[in-house]
Amino acid sequence: MNLSTPTAPANWHDRALSLKIDGRCVIDGQRRDATSGQVFDKHSPIDGRRLGAVARGAVADIDLAVASARAAFEDRRWAGKAPAVRKRLLLRFADKILAAKEELALLETLDMGKPIQYALSVDVPSTARCIQWYAEAVDKIYDEIAPTGANALALITREPMGVIGVIVPWNYPMIMAAWKLGPALAAGNSVVLKPSEKSPLTALRLAELAVEAGIPPGVFNVVPGYGHEAGEALALHMDVDAIGFTGSTRTGRRMLEYAGRSNLKRVYNELGGKSAFLVFPDAADPQRAAKAVAGSMFFNQGESCNAPSRVLVHESLADEFVAMLAAQAPKFAPADPLLPATVMGALVDEVQLKTVLGYIEAGLQEGARCVVGGQQVRSDSGGYYVEPTVFDGVHNGMRIAQEEIFGPVLSVIRFETEAQAIALANASHYGLQASVWSDNIHRAHRVARALRAGTVHVNQYDEDDLTVPFGGYKQSGNGRDKSLHAFDKYTELKTTWLRIDAQE
Ligand code: NAD
Repeated sequence: MNLSTPTAPANWHDRALSLKIDGRCVIDGQRRDATSGQVFDKHSPIDGRRLGAVARGAVADIDLAVASARAAFEDRRWAGKAPAVRKRLLLRFADKILAAKEELALLETLDMGKPIQYALSVDVPSTARCIQWYAEAVDKIYDEIAPTGANALALITREPMGVIGVIVPWNYPMIMAAWKLGPALAAGNSVVLKPSEKSPLTALRLAELAVEAGIPPGVFNVVPGYGHEAGEALALHMDVDAIGFTGSTRTGRRMLEYAGRSNLKRVYNELGGKSAFLVFPDAADPQRAAKAVAGSMFFNQGESCNAPSRVLVHESLADEFVAMLAAQAPKFAPADPLLPATVMGALVDEVQLKTVLGYIEAGLQEGARCVVGGQQVRSDSGGYYVEPTVFDGVHNGMRIAQEEIFGPVLSVIRFETEAQAIALANASHYGLQASVWSDNIHRAHRVARALRAGTVHVNQYDEDDLTVPFGGYKQSGNGRDKSLHAFDKYTELKTTWLRIDAQE
């Protein structure tokens, strides 16, 4: 069955039955088992079904993949091509992704539980668009000539770094990979990608599609496996020049340690968040704000690093605003992710389910009031579903206000003054995103400037695109994904100083 050919109406359950799962590594353009022969079983969080066996990559496989990536870099089969040629091949890669849209979307939904409609409308197109964007950018970037005196010519050029290790999480498996692959590959590097053990399937297909598109073997390798095995081996590898990491702050800390213990490779961390959403009394349309916070918080089951999980609302409109949020939440009731109308799917696994339920319990224990939700649902499906949940009466010191839950749980905190709102918003180890709702232009700018976050939204939440950087202040990470700034992570700056003699 050709999954790329649209058939209407889609019966995703039938399609899932005939879907071919290949969990082997992709190294040097070839599928291969883990050197040890070991595999792990991948089950779907939507109903517990076994999807197939995935190679349990470890040190030997990472060694092979890094050696392949290094050989590809050294013989310049990719780095040596003109940027316009890399562009053409990457655009072909993006076309292949779009052509395989239905297969990739189905794999993503089965693997990590998100609704099929969003896998189709968000994850696959955003992945292709990201590869296209960096492909189109790379032959339009010029290097620099320094303003030296007459007896010198000083060139400042960007060069690809070499072998980039990419380690990504499970919440947006393809998009997170694309945010690194786009700039790293366009700049001429070779990549070894270690997807999350909870969502390895689309990454493996992406690597095959890249080879089909004509990207030379060895340039893009994928080794699935566990973090403490394949992930650690990649981050400790002496021949990896940089790590592009997205994941938890806990693991990000380890990335820095691994670099310190090995070759001081560059480490770029995109980590967790506890983003604040500030609603002031002069916000013209609180209803729109309530819709925005619910839409962004409950999208992707609340498993988004930038989810606006702390709502800070002025005392004067807090009761009204909490009622609006409570009315929004049921619209995101979890349902079967393979039904086309479903807006909230399954949490990624049982561990995540227990974590989320544990935080709901902690909120109740610490005295917060659960206004809506709070329960596990659909347990007879064999999958992992939790209702969209809103807590009122939260204090900023509570665990549900400080720790990243990574599930559909929203905390509402009340404030009285602008200064207090800013202090509360900034009283977090994280600094990924924030949002300010006010129709007073002075306040909106003043507060946006005072917030310690990589992105501040004003009177909206998630309207951004590839043109702007994404990343965090403080323990939300360093470096930026997206935009032309992402090239900084995967290129070295070289100075070439030439002497020009005044006379023969
Ligand atoms: P995680 O840190 O547990 O795992 C992320 C990746 O690191 C996985 O591939 C995992 O196998 C690997 N890993 C785990 N332990 C490792 C180790 N000891 N050595 C090497 N690799 C290891 O995170 P997760 O649970 O997969 O993802 C959720 C986290 O990702 C959340 O904190 C979320 O905020 C964050 N995230 C951040 C962004 C961003 O752009 N800032 C985007 C998406 C997700």
